[in-house]
Amino acid sequence: MDLGIRGRKAIVCAGSKGLGKGCAVALAKEGVDITLVARGQEALEATAAEIRTATGVKVQTVVGDITKPDVRAAVLAACPEPDILVNNAGGPPPGDFRKFDRDTWIAAVDANMLTPIELIKATVDGMLARKFGRIVNITSSAVKAPIDILALSNGARSGLTGFIAGVSRTTIHANVTINNLLPGLFETETMLSRVHAMAKTNGVAFETARDGRLKTVPAGRFGNPDEFGALCAFVCSAHASYITGQNFLIDGGVYPGTF
Ligand code: NAP
Repeated sequence: MDLGIRGRKAIVCAGSKGLGKGCAVALAKEGVDITLVARGQEALEATAAEIRTATGVKVQTVVGDITKPDVRAAVLAACPEPDILVNNAGGPPPGDFRKFDRDTWIAAVDANMLTPIELIKATVDGMLARKFGRIVNITSSAVKAPIDILALSNGARSGLTGFIAGVSRTTIHANVTINNLLPGLFETETMLSRVHAMAKTNGVAFETARDGRLKTVPAGRFGNPDEFGALCAFVCSAHASYITGQNFLIDGGVYPGTF
């Protein structure tokens, strides 16, 4: 299927690795030019080069922490009229909520709620004027099925989800949609480092901890970033103009509910 977005321009935040990279690759395969953001220059340039070679699209990079206002300004200077915005950042750490102080909460809310809101504020009016826009926020399955040790993620991402639920209905009249993608367990650096930490805490081998996580997934495997990217590309496609304010769970069947 031709997704009808060839020649569009996308900002993909936190895109040098993992799910963000999966989204950037899938969009680039559809002919979308990419502005890619991450803090570590080496991985960022390597991913940008990989995408250019594989797809031939234009890929520009902005090195920096997307939660910082000056970095967001640099991203918007590099790509002032994006058609597509993929909001993403590292997730907050797990732990006992009793140990999280105010600064820890502010950092989580900043990264996983206020940063996407700031980027939406900065880009949505241009999209409305140009009569095309696709905004996708990478959140988490924890928004739908909260996990106790992910208190920071549950809280901050739910705040973003509530905001999106309201604003997404106000933009679709001009072909600007805003949706959330909710990953379950995907095989990425962050997820595997969490499994390593879990193995260490429980005094078991990495393989044992990994198999324990796998047993919770009806698909019998972790997701891979490419299939996550494919969902992102469809939600950003010309064919998805009637879809807004939705929360797409992509979790290999983990969530057990009817809806
Ligand atoms: P990942 O493979 O570790 O990749 C994270 C990417 O984000 C890297 O490119 C990283 O590059 C970049 N990044 C992180 N913080 C950034 C910041 N402040 N500014 C700019 N770039 C930043 O992680 P992932 O698994 O794809 O996770 C992506 C998001 O999905 C996270 O919020 C995570 O909590 C959430 N999530 C993941 C899973 C899963 O199973 N993988 C499940 C649920 C939710 P630099 O470090 O160089 O900046």
